[in-house]
Amino acid sequence: MMYVMPKLPYAINALEPIISRRTITFHYGKHLQTYVDNLNKLTLGTEFEGLPVTDIVRNAPEGGILNNAGQVLNHTLYFQQFTFQPIQKQPAGKLEEAIARDFGDFTQMKQKLTQAANSLFGSGWAWLSADPDGKLHISQEINGNNPLRKGNTPLLGIDVWEHAYYLDYQNKRMSHIQLLWEIIDWPAIESRLM
Ligand code: MN
Repeated sequence: MMYVMPKLPYAINALEPIISRRTITFHYGKHLQTYVDNLNKLTLGTEFEGLPVTDIVRNAPEGGILNNAGQVLNHTLYFQQFTFQPIQKQPAGKLEEAIARDFGDFTQMKQKLTQAANSLFGSGWAWLSADPDGKLHISQEINGNNPLRKGNTPLLGIDVWEHAYYLDYQNKRMSHIQLLWEIIDWPAIESRLM
């Protein structure tokens, strides 16, 4: 099996109460495991077998291989973007500079990404990404799509599939999104900006 689970960089209960142990148990342990397992099964014997998920997301035709590779990439970035002990409450360095240039300031970027996530209809993601010129963008991506498909580097993703928040917040998607800002690992996000 070529595709394996990404390491969780904290204990399964470390993000409580913002993301519960129960949600991590299902979201990471069951949902992501299923995407990894499906990607292994579907790519077996195809031209995509063994390719990096980023290559599959860029190049595969619409269908099951793309959907599962997209969700493996999305969730790998997602689970690795949180920390239970944030050393900074907001972006710094070149990320802060890019946000100021493209959105005015951090507060405005935060509002736009929050709004994009909260208003997405159905299952999907809201992403902060950087285009090949380094300009930052916020996009809504339906289902398992990722900004990489359009050539942008994904930086920060908010999962608004109900499995991401329903156990802890039920229908209160906005409450969940607003609390996620408390546990973002900003140095990890900045390291994704090339
Ligand atoms: Mn998810």
